[in-house]
Amino acid sequence: MLDFDFSDEQQQLRETLAEFSAKELLPNYLQTSASYDFPFPVLKKLGDLGILGIGFPEEFGGTGEDDPVLLGIAAETLAYGDVNLASAPIQVGLVGAQLLHGTREVQERYLPPMIAGEINLAIALTEPGSGSDASALRTSAKRVPGGWLLNGEKSAISWTMSATAALVYAREPGSSKSKGVSCFVVDLASEGVSLRHMIGMGCLPLGWGAIHFDDVFVPDTHLIGDEGRGFQVAMNHFDFSRAALGLLCLGAAEQSLAEAAVYAAQRETFGKPLTDYQGVSHQLAEHATYIEGARWVCYRSLWLRQQNRSHTSLASMSKWWGPVVAKDAIESAMRIHGNLGYSAEFPLQQRYRDVMAYLVADGTAEVQKNIIAKEIFAKGTVSL
Ligand SMILES: Cc1cc2nc3c(=O)[nH]c(=O)nc-3n(C[C@H](O)[C@H](O)[C@H](O)COP(=O)(O)OP(=O)(O)OC[C@H]3O[C@@H](n4cnc5c(N)ncnc54)[C@H](O)[C@@H]3O)c2cc1C
Repeated sequence: MLDFDFSDEQQQLRETLAEFSAKELLPNYLQTSASYDFPFPVLKKLGDLGILGIGFPEEFGGTGEDDPVLLGIAAETLAYGDVNLASAPIQVGLVGAQLLHGTREVQERYLPPMIAGEINLAIALTEPGSGSDASALRTSAKRVPGGWLLNGEKSAISWTMSATAALVYAREPGSSKSKGVSCFVVDLASEGVSLRHMIGMGCLPLGWGAIHFDDVFVPDTHLIGDEGRGFQVAMNHFDFSRAALGLLCLGAAEQSLAEAAVYAAQRETFGKPLTDYQGVSHQLAEHATYIEGARWVCYRSLWLRQQNRSHTSLASMSKWWGPVVAKDAIESAMRIHGNLGYSAEFPLQQRYRDVMAYLVADGTAEVQKNIIAKEIFAKGTVSL
């Protein structure tokens, strides 16, 4: 039996967040997205709305019930207003799910303020020499009495400049590939940590950067999950973030097409509104179709996750297709706006630059397609 309806609770959240996006996020998006400062007061509002606690235990301020679909709804709907802030619930979901594998001490220290929207945590996997081939990472974690000493460099890490701490993946010296990689939560104020701001073409408030570790001591209590199994745990949780990021991009595209539809009705050329020209209206129709298809790939992936069923291929489909569909739709919305689409006074160009990040961040399209193809060849069929 097929059911494409959201539950009453999910529908209610969509409506609440759509209103929040329209009133609190969209009017400030151009200003917020042009700044390198992370807007903590707005993050706190998301915390107050309970959006950052979806799926986390109530004792830490969470909602208690795991609901990846609800998180996807939050990402899509918040992106109508601000695609950068919309990534906050995804980041908290991804970081928090891993912290739940950690000690009671780190859970109590980081989860409540993160869920309340008071602090950010980064995820530091990529290095100058390893991105797509993440298991080739070189940062080392050497055993010392009471903990580990970390040495190495992480780069292209979102939230670097505003994070209190980071999940850092580092390997036992002498180990190779995914074996021997552990995950640690590292306070970024620790001795031996240095940060470098990296400037991207978008996502400016997310404070992209590099993190250098020079003999950084990490206590035993800050190991997340089993020693040597950090890589596997991270990969499992990326299946969540990939579908949610697809929805985030699509939310930004939906808003852009809605703006283009309004503009097309108002703008006249050659004595007629743009809506009278199929060259315009068919662009809107085509992109609306692609968006609708891609949305349901993402939601099906999150729904399967909620049912504890396999969804790795669908997560990868969401991650490569969602951002591509979104960027093409935003580009079309820009063209329908003529010169105004290129203007820095309108949000379209900013959304385009922000969404472009997700063609690469969290795994490129080629890497996602490799994952999908592997499953097709293993099963001998394309049906999921
Ligand atoms: C805005 C942004 C935010 C990011 N945030 C984070 C973060 O918070 N934390 C973090 O750890 N990382 C983050 N990253 C890093 C991101 O995950 C990596 O950039 C990404 O995984 C690609 O790695 P790379 O840049 O080293 O490219 P490479 O791995 O060098 O790939 C270069 C090109 O070759 C292609 N390629 C590589 N291998 C294959 C293959 N086997 N088959 C086909 N094509 C292939 C890739 O698709 C790509 O086009 C972020 C990146 C960006 C752009």
